[in-house]
Amino acid sequence: MSTDTRLIFPIDEIPKNGTSIRIADEITWVRMPLPMSLNHINLWLIGNEDKTLVDTGMHLPEVVDNWSSLIQKDNLNINRVFITHMHPDHVGMGGWFVDNHNCDFMMSRTDYLQCRVLSSDKSGNVPQVAIDFYKRAGMAEEMLERYVSRFGFFGSIIYPLPSSYIRVKNNDVFQFGSREWRVLEGSGHTMEHLCLYSLDEKYLISGDQILPTISSHVGVFPTEPEANPLEDWINSCKRLKSQVAEDVLVLPAHGRPFIGAHKRLDALINLHETNLESLCNLLKTPKQAPDTFSVLFNRDINESNFLMALGESIAHLNCLEQRGVIQKELINGIYHYEAR
Ligand SMILES: [Zn+2]
Repeated sequence: MSTDTRLIFPIDEIPKNGTSIRIADEITWVRMPLPMSLNHINLWLIGNEDKTLVDTGMHLPEVVDNWSSLIQKDNLNINRVFITHMHPDHVGMGGWFVDNHNCDFMMSRTDYLQCRVLSSDKSGNVPQVAIDFYKRAGMAEEMLERYVSRFGFFGSIIYPLPSSYIRVKNNDVFQFGSREWRVLEGSGHTMEHLCLYSLDEKYLISGDQILPTISSHVGVFPTEPEANPLEDWINSCKRLKSQVAEDVLVLPAHGRPFIGAHKRLDALINLHETNLESLCNLLKTPKQAPDTFSVLFNRDINESNFLMALGESIAHLNCLEQRGVIQKELINGIYHYEAR
């Protein structure tokens, strides 16, 4: 096995938030700000005169301003928006482009429908099953209060989703400008995440399916407590490795464009499998989900990332449970997990 796990980052320049740089014929890299520790998202303009925009940015006043001035300054004619998945940093400005620039709006069916459901959640209207889910997951009272107070936040950073859309599915091929692109579906980060792979095998617009330095969030939510997104994610990474060329230039949604897709996918798979193994060892004695954080994360878990960490921890636990190596038991209203 090759021990060289280094990725190659062939593009030295990085666009500042709110600006763009052309990185190849008919491919422009746009960056927009995010109000989080992950402080940016990469968006891709492809094609000639009429451009297709892949992902859009979060619906924030600053991003609206940035897009308005970028469109004017570069005289951009964007007539199509292609969304990799339903997270607000990706889809947030989609409806804005439809309403203001008369764009076609393309997305996978599952993510489109799920996004409409989630963005209709209203604050003050938390389902009891969601509260029960987090209580059983071992969430402390003050974290529950934070969860309840932020319920409905998802929809607040998304411009209302268009009422109709063009469905995109795995293996579809589209011509954007002079290049043809094949759609490759992944699952686990969201249910039906889409990547775009150029037919000349030179470029992969990867959304959050492969990121160069961070591992994408794979979590379980109250709507589907028994879900096993981690097995889906690992299988998606394996499938993607068999579908794309090792020397493809990966254009990720966060971080810098890189070469080394196979290495990176191997590293992501290994990371999760190693975590699952460590988790199994930890569970020789019964543990609650939050007790597993020290094994799964090498970053500080505080109130701002607790919910993500908890969802990710349950994803690992569900995966082990469905592989038949651990079991869970409700003790005093909280799930305890233990190796079989
Ligand atoms: Zn995402």
